[in-house]
Amino acid sequence: MSNILYVTSEAFPLIKTGGLADVAGSLPIALAEQSEDIRLVLPAYPQVMQQVTDTKPLASGIYYNLEVTLLETQLPNSNVPVWLVHCPAIFDRPGSPYMNSAGQPWHDNALRFAVFCKVAVDIAMNRLNLKWQPDVVHCNDWQSGLIPALLQPLKQRPATVFTIHNLAYQGLFDYQTFIDLELPSALWHPEGLEFYHQLSFIKGGLVYADRINTVSPTYADEILQPEFGNGLSGLLQHRQGRLCGILNGIDHTVWNPATDPHLAAHYDTTTLDQKRVNKTALQKQFNLPIDAKIPLVGMISRMVEQKGLDIILQAMEKIMTMPLQLIILGTGDMHYEMELMKWSQQYPDRIKVIVGYNEPLSHQIEGGSDLFLMPSAFEPCGLNQLYSLRYGTLPIVRNVGGLADTVVAANKQNLANATANGFVVPAQSAPALVATLKQALTLYKRPKVWRQLQLTAMKGDFSWQRSAKHYRELYQQAMADRDQINAG
Ligand code: ADP
Repeated sequence: MSNILYVTSEAFPLIKTGGLADVAGSLPIALAEQSEDIRLVLPAYPQVMQQVTDTKPLASGIYYNLEVTLLETQLPNSNVPVWLVHCPAIFDRPGSPYMNSAGQPWHDNALRFAVFCKVAVDIAMNRLNLKWQPDVVHCNDWQSGLIPALLQPLKQRPATVFTIHNLAYQGLFDYQTFIDLELPSALWHPEGLEFYHQLSFIKGGLVYADRINTVSPTYADEILQPEFGNGLSGLLQHRQGRLCGILNGIDHTVWNPATDPHLAAHYDTTTLDQKRVNKTALQKQFNLPIDAKIPLVGMISRMVEQKGLDIILQAMEKIMTMPLQLIILGTGDMHYEMELMKWSQQYPDRIKVIVGYNEPLSHQIEGGSDLFLMPSAFEPCGLNQLYSLRYGTLPIVRNVGGLADTVVAANKQNLANATANGFVVPAQSAPALVATLKQALTLYKRPKVWRQLQLTAMKGDFSWQRSAKHYRELYQQAMADRDQINAG
């Protein structure tokens, strides 16, 4: 058993903007079940504070002249302790944890997450009298990137692991911010936190963590290439021996069509016909023609270029000539939201666009759709295709990152040996997307083949238990690396 400090800027169900929250809300529970002593550190955003009732102050301190209290609570439906970094001056704000209502990053994000990191470092070094010190600090994404950098020179430090959930978000700030945050000057160099004369939070993790991982094996390979490396492929090549990919799992207590409280009808592999009830409910809810035979395509996504919104829009004229219905739920770039709304106004019988964040509806779309659209240009892991597989909603994806690791294309060979579970768009282009949609619609007309695809999809094993085992191995490797550094 090891002591693990899991540092994350979001965790479902307390606060969620994307996949990181789902991971942080389930992996720690799976690790606790495998006897690790794990504690989460999370900012005390207002959404979090509204959901927790039983907080207990553990420690307090001053960071950058701001008063900070560490509050203890628990991850809902578990015994996993959560330590909340309560600092109203920087975290008590409505809306997104990262952006203001205009979609711009909060002006003081560097300070906000520097405070967060410094508190985590103090916990890691047992400076807050918590009578508990981690063996490993597990950091996630740029918001926790400074931690490995700050810990690395210290004696008696825990080992550090840094997980890349998305390399495109790096936490870049100007040089003056580096000065204002009073970070050790030794960290300011191109092999340190400097990234083309800017301060890079993510480099703190990539350069200084004992071990690094991404959330799928294919993405771990891809980011070594300039095309997917966001300017960091050289550094990652340098650290390749310390880098691996561990596929995310899914939380079966939250994403299970047999028990999902948001669905009109429950189903599993033996009662798959019931899925139709969810489709009808969805068509009714969104005033689409109620027709069991017309393929219903769902999409739930942050509306950003990464998710293939550009090729979907380019293909939309052709898609609207196809015999299908489309329901899209998402929020993000206003440009994409508005373009999609235009199509839904023009073709109200074919496409519905719901702009916003809606957890129950996301379950209903997974439950009621026949196909799930996810043609991402890159995808570190992707969770929605995993939920789709579990719900027998065949994903249409690009052959990248975690999508490549989880979706098996319905080609002749894979259909023949019953390994196919979805559709793969062969290129990041509108014509390729249209061609793949056509292929899917052709197979939809063959119920037996379709049923086989659904059963294969639903039977896939994407449990957290398996991933948790890999993380435990990674923790051991990180500790061995740290010991070697200390010995040398
Ligand atoms: P990313 O983390 O890049 O956004 P993932 O597929 O890994 O993509 O995870 C996205 C998660 O966020 C999924 O659980 C998905 O259902 C959820 N999600 C994204 N957008 C919305 C939305 N508008 N409403 C509800 N859930 C959403």
